[in-house]
Order: sequence, then C-alpha cells, then structure tokens
Amino acid sequence: MVKAILTDIEGTTSSISFVKDVLFPYAERKIPSFLRRESDRREVIKILKDVEEIEGKELSLEEVIKLLLRWIREDKKITPLKELQGLVWEEGYRKGELRGHIYEDAYEKLKEWHEKGIPIYVYSSGSVKAQKLLFSNTPYGDLTYLFSGYFDTNVGNKKDKDSYLRIARKVGLEPEGILFLSDNPQEIEAAAAAGMRVIRFAREGENEPLPDFPHTQVKSFKEIEAV
Ligand SMILES: [Mg+2]
Repeated sequence: MVKAILTDIEGTTSSISFVKDVLFPYAERKIPSFLRRESDRREVIKILKDVEEIEGKELSLEEVIKLLLRWIREDKKITPLKELQGLVWEEGYRKGELRGHIYEDAYEKLKEWHEKGIPIYVYSSGSVKAQKLLFSNTPYGDLTYLFSGYFDTNVGNKKDKDSYLRIARKVGLEPEGILFLSDNPQEIEAAAAAGMRVIRFAREGENEPLPDFPHTQVKSFKEIEAV
C-alpha cells in the first residue's frame, strides 16, 4: 500500500516551460536591480559573501552581478544563486507579477490524496523556499496545505539512490511505502533502486514515453488510480 507520495515539480505537477520560460527569465531580469536595491539586507549580504567565498576573492557588487548572470547562462545550480532567485521570486509573487503553475489534473489528484489522508511530499531541485512560493500562489489559490514536507538538493542529488533512502528515513517510512513521481528517467531509476514505487510522467508536449522503460509511464495524474 502507498503510505505517502513524493513528487517532483517540473514536468510532473507543473510545466517545464513555466520554470524555464517564466521563472528563470524573471529572476535573470530582476537580479541586477534587486541586488543594487537590497544589498543591505541580511540575506543578501550572506549571498554576496557566499559568492565571494566560491570565487575565493573579494568582489564588487557589479562583479557579483556579472558573475551571477554568467552562472545563470551556464545553468549552474549554485546555492547562493538559488537563494537569490528565491528572494527575487518571493518579491514577484508578493507583487502579483508571478503566479505558480500547476496542471489541473495534478491539483485534482493531489487534493484527492490529501483528503484521503495520504501525506504528500515534494522533492525538487528548486530550493524549498521556491517550492513553497510556487504552490503558495496558483490559479487554485494557496496549495501549500496539500504538502506535509518539502525536500531539495540539500537532502542529496535527485539522481542518487541514497537521497531517496534519506527522504524515506526523514518521513519515517520504508521506501516501499512511498510512491515517487517524476518525469526524469534517472530520478525514477534512483528512487526505484532505493525501493520506492515509481511512476514516470511523460506529459504531452513535454516528454515522450520511453520505449522499453521498465517502469509505469503516464501522461497525467488522471491515469494514476491504485493509490
Ligand atoms: Mg522534473
């Protein structure tokens, strides 16, 4: 029996294009002015310090901005960059310039599971802060009540089996009792290797079902019944 759900966001509950075409460009556009305006803020000072530490030298604010924009272009998943993106998104959601995307079928099914008392956890490479923001302001309202917990790469890489063992331990369940949902085949393999049940998402227009993939593949949450 499935005792808990663990779900990815991008390509699973939400469209890949929202993150790629809305969230990331928004952060990229706003980072320079945000840093210039908020450079005295405690969290921002910490981010600037962390960037200097990674580079191993003192940097001016403009140098940090340049470097961060380069990391974005190179798609580097570096902690201070992710934290900064989280702060910029927070402001965007607060101002109403951003609204989190979730597919209707995902919303309906997650709500159904929640009402059945099945705990739902999120595991995404976006920071926990960004995950909560995305679900706090959606076309269906604030959906954070649906989730019992959030995990990001602080718990480990999503393609590493040990991360899933760690999550199982943290939520107090055997991996076998957890159903993991993701569009990424390597994440699916890692979770399966840890003993979790798995379903791979191949949403139309986003991912293709893989031939000979040894695990169940679906296009939508509607196809998931036996939980
Ligand atoms: Mg994904």
